[in-house]
Amino acid sequence: MKIQSVRFLKSCVAPQDYPILNLPEIAFAGKSNVGKSSLINALTGRKGLAKTSQLPGCTQLINFFIINEKFSLVDLPGYGFAKAPLTVKKQWGPMVATYLKERQALRLVLLLLDIRRDGDAKDRDLLNWLQYFQLPYLIVFTKVDKLSRQQVLLRSRSILASFGQSPDSVVLFSARTGQGRLELWAGIEKHIGG
Ligand code: GDP
Repeated sequence: MKIQSVRFLKSCVAPQDYPILNLPEIAFAGKSNVGKSSLINALTGRKGLAKTSQLPGCTQLINFFIINEKFSLVDLPGYGFAKAPLTVKKQWGPMVATYLKERQALRLVLLLLDIRRDGDAKDRDLLNWLQYFQLPYLIVFTKVDKLSRQQVLLRSRSILASFGQSPDSVVLFSARTGQGRLELWAGIEKHIGG
């Protein structure tokens, strides 16, 4: 993917605020601190594009970015930050479920999981929604540079098995080394068409 232009469009909470775009959309979801901002920045080659929040889990916004004026990337709010206020925790589910359910332009969801952590109930909820709404998704294991190749293999097998997922639906990614970047773009391109 040749990135010619990248621009932040807007942050939204409710569907009435979602931008009206006639562009295919790719969304990114995962726990707070999973490396979602780093992945979006690495993918687009723009360092400060997706901002790491000072207080993880406290910004509950859906951020829209436009790439090459051809498709949009959507940064969904992270979940599972233990210290987030209860009101913030309660908002997350309806907000993300509504987006997944209502966004007609959505073509693919990248579900990010930290290769070092076991998936939990929140990750499972998200996976269940994706399956329920019949949305195409790709599991991305992040921070793979933190483990040896052997450990990455073992961890990915065990996490996938715990979710009943097959090993061919994943990308191993590192924002630090760039591993998986081309594969991710290839996966995205397949879903946004020519
Ligand atoms: P977000 O909350 O999901 O947006 O996560 P961030 O992108 O802000 O990353 C959380 C922390 O993990 C930061 O300290 C990042 O530097 C670190 N991080 C993110 N991606 C990677 C990676 O691929 N490798 C390593 N070693 N650290 C990473």
